[in-house]
Amino acid sequence: MRTIGHWIDGEPVDGTSGQYGPVYDPATGEQPSRVALASTEEVDRAVAAAKRAYRTWKDVSLAKRTAILFRYRELLDAHRDEIAELITAEHGKVHSDALGEVARGMEIVELACGIPEKLKGELSTQVSTRVDVASIRRPLGVVAGITPFNFPAMVPMWMFPLAIACGNTFVLKPSEKDPSASRRLAELAAEAGLPAGVLNVVNGDKVAVDRLLEHPDVAAVSFVGSTPIAKYIQTKAVEHGKRVQALGGAKNHMLVLPDADLDHAADNAINAAYGSAGERCMAISVVVAVGGIGDELVKRIAERAAKLRIGPGNDPASEMGPLITAEHRDKVASYVHGAREQGAEVVVDGTGYTVEGHEKGFFIGVSLLDKVTPEMDAYRDEIFGPVLCVVRAETYDEAIELINASPWGNGTAVFTRDGGAARRFQMEVEAGMVGVNVPIPVPVGYHSFGGWKDSLFGDHHIYGNDGVHFYTRGQVVTTRWPDPADSGGINLGFPGN
Ligand code: NAD
Repeated sequence: MRTIGHWIDGEPVDGTSGQYGPVYDPATGEQPSRVALASTEEVDRAVAAAKRAYRTWKDVSLAKRTAILFRYRELLDAHRDEIAELITAEHGKVHSDALGEVARGMEIVELACGIPEKLKGELSTQVSTRVDVASIRRPLGVVAGITPFNFPAMVPMWMFPLAIACGNTFVLKPSEKDPSASRRLAELAAEAGLPAGVLNVVNGDKVAVDRLLEHPDVAAVSFVGSTPIAKYIQTKAVEHGKRVQALGGAKNHMLVLPDADLDHAADNAINAAYGSAGERCMAISVVVAVGGIGDELVKRIAERAAKLRIGPGNDPASEMGPLITAEHRDKVASYVHGAREQGAEVVVDGTGYTVEGHEKGFFIGVSLLDKVTPEMDAYRDEIFGPVLCVVRAETYDEAIELINASPWGNGTAVFTRDGGAARRFQMEVEAGMVGVNVPIPVPVGYHSFGGWKDSLFGDHHIYGNDGVHFYTRGQVVTTRWPDPADSGGINLGFPGN
């Protein structure tokens, strides 16, 4: 069995804690690898390496930093297939989807290549006689990233490229369920010329996370994961005086108005609900059908759901792969059974689904639940699997009230042909990312990503301009150079004009 260790100070480091976590191949159910779980001492070693590297990295010129990032971008491009294969092997998602994940992560590396433009400060001259004022952004020091299993390459890339471009050094604690992609990203960064210690990867669980949150030399923490852990991370990081952004879970609604093109809406509902087996924080998990379109829309979604090809992620014929673990698959299935008991109509039941030749894989079919109501567990909880709930609403007002009553506010979408209705929805809905005829409105790299309410704790969204702000702190420099002809003299008054 392969053991996946850490990456500290520019080299691979074996785990020494004696603790390991299983890493499965979700398509076969086998466990080809195990991951070392870091002790607090191992986390300290990574933070110490990052702290040492920060002393020189913060002063490396923008020209040299960006030259490394450009080389990194080229290496990622050359290795995108290999990274996607690592993702598929441990996460299970299909290869094309894994390639998409790598591409969306690379967007942030590309943004980081342009960091000189983002770090340009502001200057006011002659604010007082011979006095100039400059506002600039300076790095924070050592920053940490803690990431979820569902995007093992993209979410780390939402964080470290911008953080290091801004002059920080980084300690990444990836998900222990699929750690190989992160390790490879760090190796390629070293190959691109990133100095040792600027980017470190420590694998681990709560022990490693807690040490990062408590460590006095960690200045800021970026977290992406489930809402209960995001809340915990924010509270604990703030207690320890750190800057924090903690992105949480979601339950994203897609509103379909009566004038929508129902075939278009059904295609998009399928893609957004079942892509990556529903293991996306921006997946659509609830369709709200407004007016009398419910029966027809459900029929069209069900027809499409029946044709989806489910199989191993490395089979080009597969459109949807397995779930991350057997436990998660069983939990997802329990929501389908529970919804039936609570009165929902199970139009498509994906539980008990097996793939020939892969009977031990963590597969589940897609499920479509109709006539779901807000009291049902399938509606209230984030299921994080290929289960789509349909809620019927008589009117737009009823629908918007339902969506805004949700504790989450990550993404949402409206499907309509009416621009005025779409604009009204955008202005009234309480969510951080809104799609108009776009079911998964994940912002491009140069805009920022983030939800509202229980989908984000902290006041910075991730990447884009918010990312640059999060990874830097402001400094204002007031300068007076006396004129060579005038030494200034003594003046005890408060400086005026
Ligand atoms: P998770 O919260 O279980 O784990 C995320 C990270 O936190 C992992 O690195 C894990 O090791 C660590 N962790 C887990 N339990 C911990 C604990 N008790 N104490 C300290 N650290 C702990 O999330 P997951 O299951 O890996 O990922 C799925 C979740 O992430 C979903 O809820 C999904 O919506 C969310 N997510 C959100 C976004 C977003 O941008 N808002 C993006 C991707 C995923």
